[in-house]
Amino acid sequence: MQIGEKIYRELKRIHKIDLKSFIAPNIRNKNLFEFIIGVLLSQNTSDRNAIRAYNNLLKSLGSITPQKILSKSPDEIALLIKPAGMHFQRAKRILELARIFSDEEFVSELINKIKSLPVEESRKLLTKLPGVGEKTADVALLMYFDKPAFPIDTHIRRITLRLGVVESPSYEKISQWWMKELDKKHYLEAHLLLITHGRTVCKAKNPECRKCPIKQYCKYYASGNKK
Ligand code: SF4
Repeated sequence: MQIGEKIYRELKRIHKIDLKSFIAPNIRNKNLFEFIIGVLLSQNTSDRNAIRAYNNLLKSLGSITPQKILSKSPDEIALLIKPAGMHFQRAKRILELARIFSDEEFVSELINKIKSLPVEESRKLLTKLPGVGEKTADVALLMYFDKPAFPIDTHIRRITLRLGVVESPSYEKISQWWMKELDKKHYLEAHLLLITHGRTVCKAKNPECRKCPIKQYCKYYASGNKK
């Protein structure tokens, strides 16, 4: 069995995924615009802050649609999404996205293309949207379009580098390693388990290596960091 699959099994054995603590899996049944806004709010901040910002928007607008977003000024949007941080910059991106998504024909064409094209091509289409980087695109591909992509967040990057299975902090290299090492049907669950592991055990400061179920695969642990 590949190391990635072994790690997945060990993490599944000790962690219970608390879906409520993640924004993206909770908005997968929304339309693509709303989904991308939710994921954009989670960039460079915790899911908890993103959920607060998202709920503020939802409460104020009633529903998150391009038209309702465009009825607000940049400052009004910024105020609502303040809990996510970088709110003025994010508000600008959200308004740009709302302008693009108000063209229904464009959106339905985009969705059809993403559904029919291979992952790499679909990712290129998504990353052309304002504020959509490789991680947001991969979250959309994996969670919204059920495509085989593996998004890398700060927790997954840290764990992977500590494991020592990838030397470069490059997003692409880390994502490719996990995709190669995992069965496609485990991508989503493994992604959420790794984040859970990073939040609770393999924390940025003082990782709890002694109780870590994947320490036998970890170079950081083997090198003597055995707290
Ligand atoms: S052994 Fe320590 S550093 Fe390695 S994955 Fe586990 S908690 Fe992280």
